[in-house]
Amino acid sequence: MSNQEFLHRSLAAVWHPCTQMKQHETLPLVPIARGEGVWLHDFDGNRYLDAVSSWWVNLFGHCNPRINAALKDQLDQLEHVMLAGFTHQPVVELSERLSCLSGLGHCFYGSDGASATEIALKMSFHYWRNSGRPEKTRFVSLQNGYHGETVGALSVTDVALFKDVYAPLLRESAQVPTPDWRNAESGESARDYALRCAAALRAHLERHHQETAALILEPLVQGAAGMGMYDAEYLRQARAICDEFEVHLIADEIAVGFGRTGTMFAHQQAGIRPDFLCLSKGITGGYLPLSAVLTTDVVYQAFYHDDTARGFLHSHSYTGNALACRAALAVLDIFEQDEVIAANRVKATSFNTIAVPLKAHPRVRNFRHSGMIWAFEVADAAPGFARAFFEEGLKRSLLLRPIGSTVYFMPPYVINEEEIRMLVAGTLEIVEGL
Ligand SMILES: *Cc1c(COP(=O)(O)O)cnc(C)c1O
Repeated sequence: MSNQEFLHRSLAAVWHPCTQMKQHETLPLVPIARGEGVWLHDFDGNRYLDAVSSWWVNLFGHCNPRINAALKDQLDQLEHVMLAGFTHQPVVELSERLSCLSGLGHCFYGSDGASATEIALKMSFHYWRNSGRPEKTRFVSLQNGYHGETVGALSVTDVALFKDVYAPLLRESAQVPTPDWRNAESGESARDYALRCAAALRAHLERHHQETAALILEPLVQGAAGMGMYDAEYLRQARAICDEFEVHLIADEIAVGFGRTGTMFAHQQAGIRPDFLCLSKGITGGYLPLSAVLTTDVVYQAFYHDDTARGFLHSHSYTGNALACRAALAVLDIFEQDEVIAANRVKATSFNTIAVPLKAHPRVRNFRHSGMIWAFEVADAAPGFARAFFEEGLKRSLLLRPIGSTVYFMPPYVINEEEIRMLVAGTLEIVEGL
């Protein structure tokens, strides 16, 4: 089969996500035949370096031999069983290990990121209701925050392009200023700006804590906002303010969890513990859809009762899928065996060295880095910049999908030095030429 034949069939049959399909009249789909490490191969012998980890899910490369082996082994034992009334080895072991890593227990499973957000929001609301505070029904999130696109998750998401059309369907939520340091005044440090934003959060909760159930945020990096990064001090402040006003703190680590920001979980850099921790994306290394919400004993106990309706009766058909849990276990094994967090620190240092000319380019603004995420804005970006950049990337064997004028790298952790050099050199060429 050639690329061309395949594209006709694909466009006729598949409605693609996050896409105005008409644009595919001029922007071809990229058909992928197979993957290996950081590389995706099409049907015509071209390959692309997956510098965005296939929408931030892939950690250890495509077709990773160790994850493959675990899944093959699991396939011959158990593919899936309903998790209501039943249990199995991968889900128990994964829950124990996530609990060890996060200091939270009671792992509740969902199918994807958005369902994790829904679970955390519903659990928080229901906790307050079970605790005699039924008036706590509202949520606060950060400006430009992203928490998924189902109706509940979209209600706390603040990305106009995804949200505005559906506004009549959504519950109102409040947004407080984002500590993203790109918004700081000139001369104001990221930390001072974080403190100023924390004061705004405090002012909001002072007025609204009675009716507020939870604050939801993406710790350290607001991904969909264009990799907006902020000082960990904001998280420390937010934790203290939430405690003071009896409001839950939901850490949406769907994108930043599993080592992305340089620690296993991003909130750990602030030395805090959230009331709810949402995990997905990298959890299975980019293999299978799975999400988890971990919470505290206090929350769990508020549901534990003779009355059925006080329980958390939420469910998804594929909750705790055995194959997905097994992939997640293989991912955690790799973290341990390869000491990935420490190895990534070395890799990130070398990445930064290689990226010096990119950072110094006159059109590059706000060059920033957190763990295994790099991002910058390109000055004087023309309309259609993101798409043009993507197309230029493909010509240079690079899969890059800028968000507006923000170019970012979020590569699989297995990227090697030669591949980093190629990525940076290709990106420099595109920045130079567009
Ligand atoms: C991707 C993402 C989600 C939604 O996850 P899906 O699996 O796409 O539903 C939620 N929150 C954050 C921070 C994300 O990056």
